[in-house]
Amino acid sequence: MRAVLFERYGKPAEVREVADPEPAEHGVVVRVEATGLCRSDWHGWQGHDPDITLPHVPGHELAGVVEAAGPRVTRWRAGDRVTVPFVCACGSCPACAAGDQQVCERQTQPGFTHWGSFAQYVALDHADVNLVAVPDGMAYATAASLGCRFATAYRAVVQQGRVAAGEWVAVHGCGGVGLSAVMIAAAAGARVVAVDVAPGALDLARRFGAAECVDASAVRDTAAAVRDLTGGGAHLSLDALGAPATCAASVNGLRRRGRHVQVGLLPSETGTTPVPMARAVALELEILGSHGMAAHAYPAMLDLVRAGVLRPDLLVTSVIGLDAVPGALAAMGEGAGPAGSGVTVIEPWA
Ligand SMILES: [Zn+2]
Ligand SMILES: [Zn+2]
Repeated sequence: MRAVLFERYGKPAEVREVADPEPAEHGVVVRVEATGLCRSDWHGWQGHDPDITLPHVPGHELAGVVEAAGPRVTRWRAGDRVTVPFVCACGSCPACAAGDQQVCERQTQPGFTHWGSFAQYVALDHADVNLVAVPDGMAYATAASLGCRFATAYRAVVQQGRVAAGEWVAVHGCGGVGLSAVMIAAAAGARVVAVDVAPGALDLARRFGAAECVDASAVRDTAAAVRDLTGGGAHLSLDALGAPATCAASVNGLRRRGRHVQVGLLPSETGTTPVPMARAVALELEILGSHGMAAHAYPAMLDLVRAGVLRPDLLVTSVIGLDAVPGALAAMGEGAGPAGSGVTVIEPWA
């Protein structure tokens, strides 16, 4: 099969012919019809993810068709249209037993712990626990965007963030996950303040329901701007980028007893990120993390997509083939996707 592969961190990836994967006993091989290009793929390529071993094929948000299933798979067979959360759970550890597959103790992640979906086929573990049926009529490109960014945003806003109608929600960083969060929070009846440095991203945020926008490149203090617009601070705020500055701005833009949800990864040399905990104490803030979403939690989200309340299809702003991936990956280093804003989807058979 053809796959995007890199042999050294930060050095150009290449499209190569490599061996087709085989399904594990409990796993499947999926023919990849669409796979999203996410900032986490760039982090992995840069060497920020300790799970990756070289050479490596990235790609973790995907949709496609089951090509082959291992002998212990009972719920899926060849021909099924599927997607998968980027955290694939083991199904049997204490976290899984509690229904928290998104923080499974023995999780695998395509594109991190093993070769991912920037390829024509990808192997996925524990298929009975992790696969999600793609509804009839949903395009693969749309389904692919659910696996990481949309589902992650859904859990962060709805489940971890406990959004309520009428609340102010600040979203710091309007890439794929941030725009998803804007759309989901607005659909829940919240008033959304979108924060980004890119005018194109803010235009999309407005289109997806943001009531207010803050151009972080034009204001001296982003958190103060959010507090001003929201009459004292957001009830719920997300760092959807994952940087010390956006994390701090998110926490500092909250009102009393507000909730910060950290969604963007925070890679750093030291492995730690400073958080304004003095404000967390004084204002009784909640500081939460959010990590993907379990497969069993998808139906409620998919119902809203089917009803047209949520429109992940609108997030897809660019579709490319495998040959364009090395360049697109490199372009993310400049802080944006190849399309500038929105979600880029790869079609490996195009
Ligand atoms: Zn991702
Ligand atoms: Zn588990």
